[in-house]
Amino acid sequence: MKYRPLGKTGLQVSALAMGCMRLPADNPDLAAQIIDEAIAAGVNYFETTRGYIEGKCQHLTAGGLKGRSRGLIVSGKAKVIVETTADSYRREIELQMSILGVDYLEFFQVGWFTLDRLEMLTRKGGALEALRKAQNEGLIGHIGFTGHDKPEHFTRLVETGIFDSVTMPYSLIDRRYESTIKRAGELGVGVVAMCPVAGGLLAAPSATLQKLIPGGAATTAAAALRFVLSNPAVSSACSGMNTLEQLRENVATANRFDNLRPSEWAQVQAILNEFQTIQKRFCTTCGYCMPCPHGVDIPGNFKIYIYDHVFGLRSWARNQYEKMEAGKRADGCTGCGECEPKCPNNIPIREQLQMVQKQYR
Ligand code: SF4
Ligand code: SF4
Repeated sequence: MKYRPLGKTGLQVSALAMGCMRLPADNPDLAAQIIDEAIAAGVNYFETTRGYIEGKCQHLTAGGLKGRSRGLIVSGKAKVIVETTADSYRREIELQMSILGVDYLEFFQVGWFTLDRLEMLTRKGGALEALRKAQNEGLIGHIGFTGHDKPEHFTRLVETGIFDSVTMPYSLIDRRYESTIKRAGELGVGVVAMCPVAGGLLAAPSATLQKLIPGGAATTAAAALRFVLSNPAVSSACSGMNTLEQLRENVATANRFDNLRPSEWAQVQAILNEFQTIQKRFCTTCGYCMPCPHGVDIPGNFKIYIYDHVFGLRSWARNQYEKMEAGKRADGCTGCGECEPKCPNNIPIREQLQMVQKQYR
């Protein structure tokens, strides 16, 4: 396993991290085996929270950790809401530790965090007091945050100096947070990239994306991981895994490759920027044209077409179109034209829906 510095924490984190939200819900033995084998393979970061998998995530993780957390980076996570106090947050930290069966968490993350909740976190008697106290008592090592707020808000949260790490979605097809990642790198805040294979979407074959990586990649998933890990500010790629096969494949990919050289990285970025331009010309999937009075999912249809034509994810696209509810598909368009004046990009929606229809019928 390859390791990288996790920001300024002094920790070395494995290039592949495990998101424990996809452990097999009804097979605790297999879940324990996956965690156990991941540790044996050198994976040292495990992201957990109490609510995942209908409350089973940390129980399943505990079966594999068997009390081990020192020398690993096990992370708990809880949100901050208006009612959260230092006491209630402390109880949550303790509860998560007891479910995980550990006496130490290297990380505790403020989950589902947004800039407008910063005051809820930092106010007198708020959750940050509980986190600092737990740090001083040696129960937790570091504080991170994660969520899906706007990139510019995430950058401001990174700049507060409160957090040692930030965890956000990042992949070949989702580069929204690239400026936040860069800023985190400059400030020494560790970056954990979640959804590096876009929730499994990038497990689908795409010659376009495989060829995009200089020297080629054996699979789209390998291209996706290599892309994420070649960003110099990314510390680790956190992937949810629910089978031993997935774990083994991801470990092999993480072990096999070297980072792209800066010139190669720049070349990949330039191609992806070009893809983005083409994508935006077609539809930004902003949704302003919705709702369609006849039930057509306009951005949903366009997203499928874009991923097919721009990123080469043909079999994924066909599959998604087939799975889409009949009334939402492009062929439900009556041509009434009500949507077109609402589109800020002046997309000829009716004409382009016909293209989608022709492609997948
Ligand atoms: S033109 Fe088609 S997609 Fe647009 S509002 Fe009418 S039925 Fe819906
Ligand atoms: S308003 Fe235009 S750009 Fe936005 S989703 Fe609809 S078609 Fe796409």
